[in-house]
Amino acid sequence: MGNPRGFLDFERVEGSALEPEQRLKNYKEFYSLPSKEEQERQGGRCMNCGVAFCHTGIIARKSTPVSLKSALGVISCAEEKPSPISGGDVGCPLHNLIPEWNDLIYRGLWSEAYDRLSLTNPFPDFTGKVCPAPCEDSCVCAINGESVTIKNNELAIVENAFKSGLVKPFIPKKRSGKKIAIIGSGPAGLACAWELNARGHKVVVYERSDRAGGLLMYGIPDMKLDKSLVQRRLDILARSEIEFKTGYAVDSKKKAEEILKSYDVLVLATGASKPIDLQIEGRQSEDVMFALDFLTASTKSLLDSGKGAQIAKGKDVLIIGSGDTSVDCVAVALRQGAKSIT
Ligand code: SF4
Repeated sequence: MGNPRGFLDFERVEGSALEPEQRLKNYKEFYSLPSKEEQERQGGRCMNCGVAFCHTGIIARKSTPVSLKSALGVISCAEEKPSPISGGDVGCPLHNLIPEWNDLIYRGLWSEAYDRLSLTNPFPDFTGKVCPAPCEDSCVCAINGESVTIKNNELAIVENAFKSGLVKPFIPKKRSGKKIAIIGSGPAGLACAWELNARGHKVVVYERSDRAGGLLMYGIPDMKLDKSLVQRRLDILARSEIEFKTGYAVDSKKKAEEILKSYDVLVLATGASKPIDLQIEGRQSEDVMFALDFLTASTKSLLDSGKGAQIAKGKDVLIIGSGDTSVDCVAVALRQGAKSIT
């Protein structure tokens, strides 16, 4: 534990964000991390509580164990009622060693912090930007105050590692002689590729789009995850001797059989872009789009021509659903110049 009084003496500091009117002028990211010194102070706010929950990565049960209840601030009841957090996720699903790297950055040991972070997370550069951070909801500091800036600390560690040249390709010394095909190059496919390649297998990733990255490339808009950062990671994977076959849809029996014949193991990492359709009147209108088609068209246009698509320009836009993806659609439609958004 770095600073025993850190959570008492220092406020949570999140960094800065551009004003909304400024953000709408382009598709660039608008959050910046605080200085390195501030981030070290923020690491010191972690009190390394004896029963840390930030890294547990569990789904809360209907009746929560007493120890978890008290730590999460759940009021205990005489008769067992479903907990308000039942079914919710508690802590980091990657089991990131959060108190350890909080302490390391507090002590200025950034390279060591990156080593500990890499042990559990192959792509902190993505999670540090777009993870919903259940770790922070589970932080004991959040019971009666503000949680440690875990997500920002994670991002600061990996960005510092990139700046210091610590993030490198990994080519295993010995190859196993086994060949593995991975279908789908989203976060799951890429994480599998990284782990299996590190174990010495020859890995080939198939992607139906023209660019690898799946949702990271085309599903999440630029202002949340700049595509140059996705490409930066893809380059490291390619330099680690992972092969990418883009523009290749495995969409026929013949292609599937060919892959099954040519590889020892096949990993299916597809499906995140499969939408839920609504069979209602007017559904077939050409102005009705699935969210991911809308977001993909916007990012593709930005990447291909430097200009955002104009699908929503001057239109009254109706978005059905209010989750993360819908919020992304709002943000993109605003930038495209929608007349109104409901
Ligand atoms: S923000 Fe990072 S540490 Fe927190 S839950 Fe997500 S991956 Fe885990």
